[in-house]
Amino acid sequence: MPLTEFELIRRFFTYPARHAVLGVGDDAAIVRARSGFELVITTDMLVAGRHFHQGADPEQLGHKALAVNLSDIAAMGATPRWATLALALPRADARWLAAFSRGFMRLARRYGVDLVGGDTTRGPLNICVQVVGEVPRGRALRRDGARAGDDVWVSGTLGDAALALVAGRLGLASRNRPPLRLKLDAPAPRVGLGVALRGIARSAIDVSDGLTADLGHICERSNVAAVVDFARIPASATLKQYLHRPAARLALLAGGDDYELVFSAGRARREAIARISRRLRLRLTRIGRMTRRRRGAPPVTVLDATGRPITVAHGGYEHFST
Ligand code: ADP
Ligand code: MG
Repeated sequence: MPLTEFELIRRFFTYPARHAVLGVGDDAAIVRARSGFELVITTDMLVAGRHFHQGADPEQLGHKALAVNLSDIAAMGATPRWATLALALPRADARWLAAFSRGFMRLARRYGVDLVGGDTTRGPLNICVQVVGEVPRGRALRRDGARAGDDVWVSGTLGDAALALVAGRLGLASRNRPPLRLKLDAPAPRVGLGVALRGIARSAIDVSDGLTADLGHICERSNVAAVVDFARIPASATLKQYLHRPAARLALLAGGDDYELVFSAGRARREAIARISRRLRLRLTRIGRMTRRRRGAPPVTVLDATGRPITVAHGGYEHFST
């Protein structure tokens, strides 16, 4: 029996809302803004054939569609509260929907996020999620707060997701692929870290386009430059095994989809950041510093082990293309 749209929404996307006045089922949802807080709003779309392939695991897709939005909320230092989900589906496949909803809702529950509404229509597979979070007034972490002299930090390890995408071409040992795939397909948004960094970090961004590109966004918005020591960039044990390959070095430096946080903070915050790292059991690594911006100089300079800049060319890294 084909699922009607109404039945589909009821079965797979209707859950009691814990922090909303009114959730799924009316023309729109109602949430209550708390006094003294600001709302932080983000949206991210995943398109089949562009962000994932048609046959992708639906449970991981549900997770990822929400995770990439939670990552943006985390990078703002906000607490995620409400989500909406707009879905275009080629057909109403109950097994696909059950798995998708499981992946989405497991992550939503973990972070106390209510799915309060959305839209469902027939069409080429397309998943658009919006998340609204809360942050105490004036305390959000923004891209424009970095200052020359700040330390530059990164959470977790970088490059695994990008390495997963080229694992086949590079002939990576099959036992090494699952941990890389997990970073690509089921990223962990750094929500706890974002909240902990309020009042400590001066700027933050999540790494979705690669370290140099995303750190470059902070530099542009803050009108500073960044100097990063390549040898300090944290890599997983798996990626380290392949650091002799140019593609692995490029993944570490410029690969996207890791959803770690890059942030800057004054030197006086080093001890506080070390404490956050221990409390969250999350590796936080100081990889460089912010400097004054010089006209004509690139926003981000990466130094090799001998202190020489690694030159950038054609959107890639010259040393890494050989
Ligand atoms: P409308 O015609 O007013 O847009 P819909 O029939 O599209 O209403 O949706 C009915 C209710 O179901 C609304 O509350 C809407 O927010 C919710 N909804 C629709 N699709 C989804 C979905 N994929 N996930 C969560 N809620 C949804
Ligand atoms: Mg609708």
